[in-house]
Amino acid sequence: MAWAGLPDGRADLLNRDWLNYTGLTSEQAIGAGWIDAIHPDDRDRIRDYWRSVVTAGESGATEARLRRHDGSYRWFQLRANPIRDQAGSISRWLCISIDVEDRRRSDEALQANERNLGLIINTIPTHIYVLNIDGYVQFVNQAVMDYTGLTMADVKQEDYRDRVIHPDDFARVRAVRAASLRRTVPFSTEQRVLGKDGQYRWFLVRYKPFLDERGGIVRWYVVAFDIEDHKRAIDQLQKLANMIHSIPAAVWSMTPDGAPDIVNQGWYDYTGHSPDYVRTHPDSWMDTMHPDDSEAARMVYWDGIRSGNGFTMEARFLRARDNAYRWHLNRAVAVRDPEGHIISFVGTSTDIEDLKVAQEELHDTRAALAHATRVMTIGELTASIAHEINQPLSGILTNASTCLLMLADDQPDLEGARETARRTIRDANRASDMITHLRALFTKKDKADEPVELSEATREVIALCSNDLKRKGASLRQYLATDLPVLTGDRIQLQQVILNLLTNAADAMQTVEDRPRELSITTELDADDLVRVTVCDSGAGFDPKHSEEMFKPFFSTKPQGMGIGLSVSRSIIKRHNGRIWAMNNEGYGATFAFAIPRAPYR
Ligand code: ADP
Repeated sequence: MAWAGLPDGRADLLNRDWLNYTGLTSEQAIGAGWIDAIHPDDRDRIRDYWRSVVTAGESGATEARLRRHDGSYRWFQLRANPIRDQAGSISRWLCISIDVEDRRRSDEALQANERNLGLIINTIPTHIYVLNIDGYVQFVNQAVMDYTGLTMADVKQEDYRDRVIHPDDFARVRAVRAASLRRTVPFSTEQRVLGKDGQYRWFLVRYKPFLDERGGIVRWYVVAFDIEDHKRAIDQLQKLANMIHSIPAAVWSMTPDGAPDIVNQGWYDYTGHSPDYVRTHPDSWMDTMHPDDSEAARMVYWDGIRSGNGFTMEARFLRARDNAYRWHLNRAVAVRDPEGHIISFVGTSTDIEDLKVAQEELHDTRAALAHATRVMTIGELTASIAHEINQPLSGILTNASTCLLMLADDQPDLEGARETARRTIRDANRASDMITHLRALFTKKDKADEPVELSEATREVIALCSNDLKRKGASLRQYLATDLPVLTGDRIQLQQVILNLLTNAADAMQTVEDRPRELSITTELDADDLVRVTVCDSGAGFDPKHSEEMFKPFFSTKPQGMGIGLSVSRSIIKRHNGRIWAMNNEGYGATFAFAIPRAPYR
């Protein structure tokens, strides 16, 4: 599109393309009419510009929107050139208009794209670097400058890395870079980088080369991720893991449905199982359990998992090192999320074998000590009795010998003999008195007369000895009447009897291995209106020919037995006007019972 103008700038000839495009007639456009085809926003600028070009008499170029015949506007480049005559003065102006709409559009799009990309690169919360092939910085994004507090110019300095990389990491990073920047494969480093707050933080830095078509490196693109928090978390995890693996017990976690998840080294060491084996055999912990414990343990385990209550149980596990079963205390608790859903179970298994053995030993020692004390008391007692009795006895002996001598004479001293015989009797009486006195000392203890409810008294005894029964493997069933009449008697003494019967029953079952060690205790009002306590065991029973002797002092069939329990019991019951007896059961074991009237002293 073109037009020609006079030296003063007025148009006098517009070509067909120009007229066709603008839809103006030649009459409308000549002179200054063409200005109508310029966009109103550009019009003043173009008018001024045209005036300046004409005044200067130089060629000019600018851009403006031109109205098409349909009213739409498109961008055009407008160029004007003066045509001069031979004298050098301007004879005409020649103006052309070139449609640049499409070029402008794509330029704008490109610029928008670039702006967008720049925005992305600078707002991305990751450090981005562009390096030249020698590893020097050409560009960094805003994040780098924000973090380091340095300007683009600073980071382009050669000593940039010296300034920001932690001195302890510097040599290592430099070595990796020196080796890797020469190759054309991606690589990465980890290092602490100094922030503008004076603190170092760990970064993972990944390098990727940008290659030309021949495979040569053009530049490096680098991203650096702040991994400080990860690093700290990993450190913490590592410490935790070290701790868990060094705990001198088995530590484990399970999924909510009871499959093993994390298991510590302690367990592997103890069982000899490999982590792989444990992972692929969810039930492997059962392999190492003592067969006698496994059924009960399994029940407790699954109860604890299903209910979410966890569990506490004891069981023996096989130790790989010496092939020995050792007792363990196993505990598990549920771990829940804030909503209360179970995320996992965690637990420990602690070897309590040594503790258990020590406890047993302690118990045995205590029992032995108690026994020794009793034996000692009896020993002392016997010595003093012997001492007391010895005097009258030696008197008897001397008198009897003297008496014999007196009678052996040709003329027996009958009066003397009578006298010595009298003295013998006197001494014998003294000995007898002494024994009676001693007996009285032991048996005639002052009795307390108080109201006693035997079921309640029994319950107290059970509480007292239930641990001992458990230790002896005995399970106790109680049938305690709730409506027993209150009787008058010595509560402590009666409790002593009950304790004795229970202890004997548990002792009698010690040798039983092939059946449950069950015993029961019953309190009731019997047909004769007597309050009766019956202890029935499933032990070895007794030899019927001992049925009377058992109740006599010092009769015992036990290696450590004193044989005084039943005799004391009998005297206590007698003092309550009651009766104590024993019989063998139809099947196994024996039944010991006593019965006393409601008001024995009335
Ligand atoms: P000790 O318990 O010290 O032996 P006791 O006087 O209590 O003394 O018991 C005497 C004996 O009676 C026991 O050694 C035992 O032979 C027998 N005996 C007692 N209770 C029972 C029982 N429940 N079953 C079988 N025998 C028993």
